[in-house]
Amino acid sequence: MVFKKIYNNMLQSKLFYKTTKETPREAEAISHKLLLRAGFIDQLMAGAYSFLPLGHRVIKKIENIIRRNMILSPVSGQEILMPALTPKENWLKTGRWNNFEALFKLKGQGDKDYALAATHEEVIVPLAKKIISSYKDLPLYLFQIQTKFRNEARAKSGLMRTREFIMKDLYSFHVSQEDLDNYYDKVSEVYFKIFKECGILTKGKNRFTFKTWASGGSFSKYSHEYQTITESGEDIIYICKKCGAAINKEIKSQMTACPEEKCGSTDFEEKKAVEVGNIFKLGTKYSLPFDLKFRSKDGKENPVIIGCYGIGLGRLMAAMVEVNNDDKGIIWPKEAAPFLVHLVQLENSGKVKKAAKEIYQNLQKNNIEVLYDDREDKSAGEKLTEADLIGIPYRVVVSERTLSKKSIELKKRDSGKINLIKENQLLKFLN
Ligand code: ATP
Ligand code: MG
Repeated sequence: MVFKKIYNNMLQSKLFYKTTKETPREAEAISHKLLLRAGFIDQLMAGAYSFLPLGHRVIKKIENIIRRNMILSPVSGQEILMPALTPKENWLKTGRWNNFEALFKLKGQGDKDYALAATHEEVIVPLAKKIISSYKDLPLYLFQIQTKFRNEARAKSGLMRTREFIMKDLYSFHVSQEDLDNYYDKVSEVYFKIFKECGILTKGKNRFTFKTWASGGSFSKYSHEYQTITESGEDIIYICKKCGAAINKEIKSQMTACPEEKCGSTDFEEKKAVEVGNIFKLGTKYSLPFDLKFRSKDGKENPVIIGCYGIGLGRLMAAMVEVNNDDKGIIWPKEAAPFLVHLVQLENSGKVKKAAKEIYQNLQKNNIEVLYDDREDKSAGEKLTEADLIGIPYRVVVSERTLSKKSIELKKRDSGKINLIKENQLLKFLN
């Protein structure tokens, strides 16, 4: 709501962006090409991008979808914000100062060593220790939406693999494995909701995002990743044709049959995919080094059982574009589009300008987010091509022709369907 009040309108003549026809040479992934070409992002260097106004609006929408689902759902998280700058000692305690290859390390005053956090177990576990002492303090669910740093060997494919990226990381603290198991399944359900709202769960009849069995590391046999099918993905998954679960290639050799309860099928389809999120049972892996314990009902001290759950926002944004595009450009899902309406004033006669301006004001009054192409130095063709490239869900064209029919033209970006409607029908249609 606040978002709409602050950001509900924009004149395209003032918008900070520039579209290009050529695709940048280094860009291979379709999301990379389109996000650069349409002026959503700008590359500072390999693995680091600025979000321009269009891209920033999308990332904020995604952030709000995730935030709402983290708070107003069985996940019931409390939002916090932890520093990106972290002390070496904490990473030494968990053994990750030397074992986390992608950890960015730096020196500060007095030759002190720091790491830019690549993940936040080393911060949140000692933080939780300051507050958790009894079983009465548990369970506890904390999340943040914050910037991570990873010195990735290959930063490529635009937002899909960067060296600085925004992540939603949720951490859950429990008295028992059973309590963690139950919560893990709840988060899993909510993850599907998030990916559905972001338009990557399905498209038409086809499924695009799969909960995928993956390795669990040293403390738990398996974890789960949420993998979205795309040719630009770096992972390979095997989708069970019977139940729709998937298995990451890294563990497929240990599994001949589908591990889902009551499935056991051996019929799989191999696909390339990108990991947009994951959920992980850490158990006591981080509570032991930081001595995070709680006093149980019978007075015994036990280590706290922990789970962690991530989603990369930039990578999710890229996956949304990978799934939702055509040869003309991006097709944003309504929930995360930079604007709901792209109002195009096709010609510059006084009559057309006046009519377009009125619609612009009317949409704003009704709290509808609208980008108004008021530019007078662009041809009709250029404007329409650019509107398709940017991919806003509804395009409203005002022209001599539509006005002669006392109408406006409404085009749905996803279906391409065009209708002439009366202006007073527009609001009804959009609502
Ligand atoms: P990957 O296997 O792709 O390297 P990861 O398993 O290391 O990712 P996690 O540490 O689990 O990833 O991070 C949680 C989420 O953060 C991932 O699911 C992904 O969405 C996102 N993420 C991880 N690394 C990057 C990166 N370099 N650039 C953008 N997003 C990332
Ligand atoms: Mg992974």
